[in-house]
Amino acid sequence: MGLIVQKFGGTSVGTPERIKNAARRVARTREAGHDVVVVVSAMAGETDRLIRLAREVAAQPDEREYDWVVSTGELVSSGLLALALLDKGVSARSIDASHIVRTDADHANARIRTVDTERVRAELARGAVLVVPGFQGMTESGDVTTLGRGAGDLSAVALAAALKADACEIYTDVTGVFTSDPNVVPRARKLARVSFDEMLEMSSLGARVLQTRSVKLAKRYGVRIHVRSSFSDEEGTWVVPESEVMERLVVSGVTYNRNEAKVTIFRVPDTPGVAAAIFSPISEAGILVDVIVQNVAHDGKTDMTFTVPRGDLARCLPIAQEVGRKLGAGGVVSDASVAKVSVVGLGMKDHAGVAAQMFRALSAEGINIQMINTSEIKISVVIAERYVELACRVLHDTFNLGAAAPGAEES
Ligand code: ADP
Ligand code: ASP
Ligand code: MG
Repeated sequence: MGLIVQKFGGTSVGTPERIKNAARRVARTREAGHDVVVVVSAMAGETDRLIRLAREVAAQPDEREYDWVVSTGELVSSGLLALALLDKGVSARSIDASHIVRTDADHANARIRTVDTERVRAELARGAVLVVPGFQGMTESGDVTTLGRGAGDLSAVALAAALKADACEIYTDVTGVFTSDPNVVPRARKLARVSFDEMLEMSSLGARVLQTRSVKLAKRYGVRIHVRSSFSDEEGTWVVPESEVMERLVVSGVTYNRNEAKVTIFRVPDTPGVAAAIFSPISEAGILVDVIVQNVAHDGKTDMTFTVPRGDLARCLPIAQEVGRKLGAGGVVSDASVAKVSVVGLGMKDHAGVAAQMFRALSAEGINIQMINTSEIKISVVIAERYVELACRVLHDTFNLGAAAPGAEES
């Protein structure tokens, strides 16, 4: 008998029928003799709806009230899942995450400070399944916070870590982590295992199957995650320490992120302090700059191009224009229809030629590379958004990801 954390994502609780399906799974785990803590997301589409509502009534919603509103999707789904469990004769109760998860006050993107396991254990000792709304917590002073989009995964991993759970199961609408988004690349292959570092890179580059911060937390606390489908019993993907991964492919995944916009400031002076002058006010506005390319200078002038999340472009442009004016730049242009496509793999660390192979494959399809960014285990390119799906498929084929590596475990 162990303690299992089971998290159900938005699609997995998207309809009453699906909530009953999730309840059946929880009931089975309970029948096998385990204690179960369930973490739920809002029903599919609900968080988006709540965000739209908040923005309809206020152009710049107050952050405390905004979190109050968008956190409610999970309250509904947790209650509904508890109802479905009780209806099946399984002792269950929903519990307010604000009693358990203490966070800082960075609304809409709060960080978890502590998780109150005593309270959870006391409830479990009464023999009930606990259903916890994901994605939220509460500050020391009693304000509801949310933890960032997709953070139901983070809530689940935090609870699994704090409770030293025997397993952390993430139930979603695909059967595991694939070599690329299976909804975009039909030939994508499910990975039996993936290391924390590779998963971290894949998540942060757009593979939304696991939220990035949840993977970071899992790595820090050694929480092994089982990503699997809520619609089948198929074994999913285990996210585990690197030492447990059999296959160490040069390239193990292709990811994309459509949430990108590109800004260019033309002809800024090529002198010390210019980059700081441009990027300081942008970062002070809380905008995360991603890829940066600075051209080689001509006549003492250079062009500076960078990407920001698409939703932040409208805020970023006036800042860039203001800095441009101060620097006597030649102008500012932007493009909100770009995307980033990346290849990821631990084996790249000691393997040359991946970048060249990637660029050749894209050029053979006539896809223009606008920006390039590399690290030890990934290569990213910024391209026109309309080529994203083609680029993913071509790169998936180029690196032969549809076929299992020799000697690797089959999933
Ligand atoms: P949930 O609502 O269960 O949290 P998400 O929509 O957040 O589910 O994540 C699951 C989705 O992630 C899948 O439907 C799939 O389209 C997408 N995805 C992107 N990249 C990958 C990948 N490499 N492997 C699996 N799924 C991926
Ligand atoms: N409901 C939240 C969101 O859509 C959290 C989650 O689903 O994980 O971002
Ligand atoms: Mg998710």
